[in-house]
Formats: sequence, structure tokens, C-alpha cells
Amino acid sequence: MTTPARTRVAPSPTGDPHVGTAYMALFDKAWSRKTGGQFVLRIEDTDRNRLVEGSEQQIYDSLRWLGLDADESPEVGGPYAPYKQSERVDSYRPFVEQLIESGHAYYCWCSGERLAQMRAEQQASKQADTGYDRLCLGMTRDERAKLPGFSPTPVVRMLIPDDVPLSFHDLIRGEVKAPRPDDQVILKADGFPTYHLAVVVDDHLMKITTVVRGEEWISSTPKHLLLYSWLGWQAPLFAHMPLLRNTDKSKISKRKNPAARLMWFREQGYLPEALRNFLQLLAYPPADGEQEVTSFDEFVEGFDWAKVSTVGPIFDVKKLDWLNGVYIRSLPTGELASRIVDYALESGQWSEIPEGGRELVLAATPLISERLVTLAEALPKLQFLFTADDQLVFNPVAVGKLKDNAAEVLTLAAQALEQLDEWTTDAIHQKLQTVLVEDMGLKPKFAFAPVRVAISGEQVSPPLFESMEILGKQSSLARIARLIAEL
Ligand code: GLU
Repeated sequence: MTTPARTRVAPSPTGDPHVGTAYMALFDKAWSRKTGGQFVLRIEDTDRNRLVEGSEQQIYDSLRWLGLDADESPEVGGPYAPYKQSERVDSYRPFVEQLIESGHAYYCWCSGERLAQMRAEQQASKQADTGYDRLCLGMTRDERAKLPGFSPTPVVRMLIPDDVPLSFHDLIRGEVKAPRPDDQVILKADGFPTYHLAVVVDDHLMKITTVVRGEEWISSTPKHLLLYSWLGWQAPLFAHMPLLRNTDKSKISKRKNPAARLMWFREQGYLPEALRNFLQLLAYPPADGEQEVTSFDEFVEGFDWAKVSTVGPIFDVKKLDWLNGVYIRSLPTGELASRIVDYALESGQWSEIPEGGRELVLAATPLISERLVTLAEALPKLQFLFTADDQLVFNPVAVGKLKDNAAEVLTLAAQALEQLDEWTTDAIHQKLQTVLVEDMGLKPKFAFAPVRVAISGEQVSPPLFESMEILGKQSSLARIARLIAEL
């Protein structure tokens, strides 16, 4: 039996949440569920210059939307609170002191200009070792102050030993090698820890057992392992997930691909369960014959780090479209209708629910669900039902395609429908079939096309007779009369 895993996702609130955050959270949560442990959300906000207002809330909201909310977080609290690094600043300092005293870290007073100059010289001379040149190592403040490029507020750096271990075990990749690190800054001049120190201290204090993060952190892991060993702590296990890639194999970024933004999926009308399933498939392509559509519980059930592919998964939104359709059609009508309404309000398609709007959407949902890809498409398809009869615009392209006898067809249709007492889909269909197809001898295509344009304004619409039933007799006849007058 595996020991209960404590996992964490540790996003920085520096903008719209990245889809990668959800991707990590999915694996964090699955592994904690599989082992009966906990999943923690920690906000890494020590880089004060990059903070973006509202970003933290978006992280909470979008993870909750996806069903990937954490067991412990700044929002819900937990036994290791606070879960926001900016509220933990005092907890890092003692460890910095400890590292300085034990000779594993040292003060560095080099100014930004001096470091830039050093780097430029290293580059010009093409020397292989481009790290910090350790000018400050072993000096007191007074000794250093006499030399050029002195800054009165020092940083603290790790003293990377010559024999630093450069390989480590990864749950997904097995033995992994990383390049030799530089003398990493762990405490900045403003007194805030850098990511490298804060992540180790917090993961230790929060008793994290498995660190799941993107493969871009592989090169940092040797530094983190050094810190664990210097501080006398047991290091967690590491799982470095492959980076998500665009269809052209480039790394997915918010600048190049709107789908890199987690909020984008919600804005586009994807269902959270479809996105969650899509993310599962990305790292974890099902073996031949295995189900692609799987619930989170099934995913947890079969979870295995060894199954995670190390090849950068291709982020193909077409696949998500397909999955979204599958999930849309698996929803009961009432549930789908209410998601369409919620989406309309959230996205601004509606500023408020129009009178009778909820009922109308519920009645019309079966007409459109078969072909629906995203929730965003629903209302535009149903717009004609929400338009007043005298406001409906007959698309000139659709009108232009009608046969010369369209007015005659519509007049007959109107006369026949006028006499119809029972206004149901079947009765309407039956009546028009008899009058236009059987009596007039028209092909169904030509018989019903003018009626469709009259009712919906378009050449293509949701099922016609069902739409007419929902619209009602009076409206249907009024629309037919209007089109006749326009022809
Ligand atoms: N704050 C880091 C990030 O935004 C977290 C990396 C980690 O999980 O260790 O990517």
C-alpha cells in the first residue's frame, strides 16, 4: 500500500492562469486521491513586481470550475496555513541564517551593474563557466565595500559545491540529469526569498511528499535537493510533467495560443468535465482499445506515473471539440439547458434572463443538442426564437435562393396552417406534407425551404416543425405573412 501522498500546485499569480496549472493540479489531485492523501494549493507570490491584480482569484475560480479545487489553500485554510508565500516571509529568514552559519550560503553585495558587466565579459571571452564569479565569497561587508560595484543591500547565495549531485530520480522519467547550477540567489535584496528557497521550505513545512511540476524545473531540482540535504530534511519525490505543445510542436504560450489561458475554455463554452478529460488524455494517451472518455474517478482508479508519456503532448483543440460534444450529449436536457443559460449570463450573451427565456431554452435544447460543439453556439442558433416577429431579419442570401414559386408555397402553407387546431410538431409536419408535397407535388426540399426562411430567417436552422411548435401558431403565421409581403 502506498503511503498517503501530499501533493501541491504552486502557481504564481502573475496573470491569467495558465492551462498548465490545471494540468498539474489534475495530476496532483489524482495522485492524492489514489493514495488517500491531500492536495494543497499554494500561492507563490514572492515576486512582487510580477503580481497581477485579480489573478489569484482567477486561479481559485478556474480550478474550482474544473473540479480541481484543493483540500488546503489560502481560500479554505488548513493545518499548515498560511498558504500564501507573501504571508510566510518571516518563516524563511531563520533557514537563511542557518545556511549562512553552516557555510552553505553567503552574502553577495555585487550591484546589478557589476553583475551585468561580469556577464558581458564572460560572454565576450566565450568562457565555459558563466556563473557568478564569487567575488563576495569569504568577504566581510567592510572588505567588499572597498571594491567597485558594491550595493549596500546584499542578497544571499547558495555555495554550490564542486561535487553537487547532478542526477536524481523522477517518478515519470526515471534517472534524470541536469546541468551544473550557478550560485543561486536564495534571498533577494528586498528580504523576500527567491522561488528556490521558498519552494523547498514550504514544501517541507507543508509536508509535501510528491512535487508535480513542469519539466522546465528539472534544471532547478539539483539546487533544491542540495537545500533539502543542507537543512537536514527528507526530499519529496519529483514528477516532472512534459510541457504542453501546440500542433506545430512549439511550447504552448499565452502569447501564441489563446488556449494556453485557462479562462479561455470557459469563455468559449467548453464544459469543465470535457476539458478535464482532455487534459487527462494529453499526458496519458489511452492504450489501444482503451476508453478515451473517462471520468475523474476512473482516471484515479487507473492512475500510474509510469503511464505518463514524456513526449510533449500536442494540444489539439479539435479533440477537445469532439469530447465537448460527447459530454454535452451526455447531459440530461434540463441540465444542458441550465448550463446554456448560465453561460449566456456569464459570457454576456444575455445581460439578464429575458422573460420566459429559461423555459424557451429548455424547450428548444433538444433541437440543437445533437450538433452542439460548445455552449457558446447554443443561443445564436436559437436567436430566431427570441426575436420579435416584426424584428426578424430574412437573410437576403437565403431569400435569394428561394424558387420563384416561394410566395405561392407560403400562401398555401399559411392557409393550411390557419385551420390547424392542434399545434404540435407532428400535426404541423403532417399538414405541410399533405398540402405542399402531396397536393402540390413539390419536392420536400422546395416545399419547406420558404417556410424555414420565414420562420428562422435562414436557409439552415434547427428542426423546422419543432421550432414552429415552440414559436406557436400566431408567431409562425405572422412570420410567414411577413415573408410573403417581402417577396
Ligand atoms: N511558482 C512556480 C510556477 O509558477 C511553481 C513551480 C513548482 O511547482 O515548483 O511555476
